[in-house]
Amino acid sequence: MRSHNFSAGPSALPTAVLERAQTEMLDFQGTGMSVMEMSHRGPLYAAEHFDAIANLRKLLDIPDAYDVLFATGGARTQFALVPYNLGLPGRSGEYILTGTWSEGALNEAGKLTSARTIWSGEADGYRRIPSDEEIRVGPEPAYVHYTSNNTIYGTQFHRIPQVSGAPLVCDMSSDILSKPIDVSRFGLIYAGAQKNMGPSGVTVVIGNKELLDRADPELPEMWSYARIASNDSLLNTPPTFPIYLLKLVTDWLVELGGREAMAERNRRKAALLYDAIDGDFYRPHADSGSRSMMNVTFKIHDPSLEPAFLAACEERRIIGVRGHRSVGGLRASIYNAVPRSSVEALVELMNDFRRES
Ligand SMILES: *Cc1c(COP(=O)(O)O)cnc(C)c1O
Repeated sequence: MRSHNFSAGPSALPTAVLERAQTEMLDFQGTGMSVMEMSHRGPLYAAEHFDAIANLRKLLDIPDAYDVLFATGGARTQFALVPYNLGLPGRSGEYILTGTWSEGALNEAGKLTSARTIWSGEADGYRRIPSDEEIRVGPEPAYVHYTSNNTIYGTQFHRIPQVSGAPLVCDMSSDILSKPIDVSRFGLIYAGAQKNMGPSGVTVVIGNKELLDRADPELPEMWSYARIASNDSLLNTPPTFPIYLLKLVTDWLVELGGREAMAERNRRKAALLYDAIDGDFYRPHADSGSRSMMNVTFKIHDPSLEPAFLAACEERRIIGVRGHRSVGGLRASIYNAVPRSSVEALVELMNDFRRES
């Protein structure tokens, strides 16, 4: 029996995808080997690699003016590669701080180039997302960076911030593919796969081609978006198995009806859970207009009940609901692959626990 998996990342994968990988593990397309064991330069791996890119293009409606890259080192490596590639002398990278991950991105950028905070929610405990009026973009930033979904605090931008003139860079690690987005509004998007697209080990970078060419040609080759792009993300040996799984996950998303269908499914799952939280017994962490559809953060009004709550979860095979250590409380991550039936199981437990406490 599969667990009800609410882990924040790595996180649940669609059961159908795992079963498919299992059937192909020992004999991928009649080769007598797995995808992991074959050359990344051969035609069979190439088909998976380019189909994965084609699926991402289709699911996100990515314009031709953008490259889709596979990188390694997680989203955290992108915290440094963004300023390395997109930084400009005498101009700042500007950062909207909505949580721990945006802080991390700012700190890395500050080591490499000039970086500036243009809004921070830290004083409010990162409970909310700013309005456009609150974001003070400078006259000529090199780029503006934000985090679309704050995995730890459970807040999410429900719009793309207006930053006219500057290339917009977004860490979309925890909500990419969860809903439609207008890629043409961005200079660059990056996302680790392990929340919403596949296993850990591969990071997707979607960049406007002109912007990717901004990088200094003297950058080490593996740090250069332009070099990775001109080599179709095959400059070095890519993480072939994670990319193959990402391809299977995106096949699954296409079959389910793509981003519109996914957004609707996700909205309904989140509504079920927020309905269970609203009331006197549980308390949400995020302000109501800033709530995440992906990571639902909450507390029990009496925090001393939390250990009993977590024990009750474990009994029903509900796992991964302990909050991040920096926020405490509870968190349910309900990415694309988390089925509605798991959300229903958690809601049932929450209602039972409230009645019995
Ligand atoms: C998980 C996460 C990261 C870190 O990803 P790694 O792949 O571990 O480097 C960065 N940003 C956001 C928004 C995340 O959710």
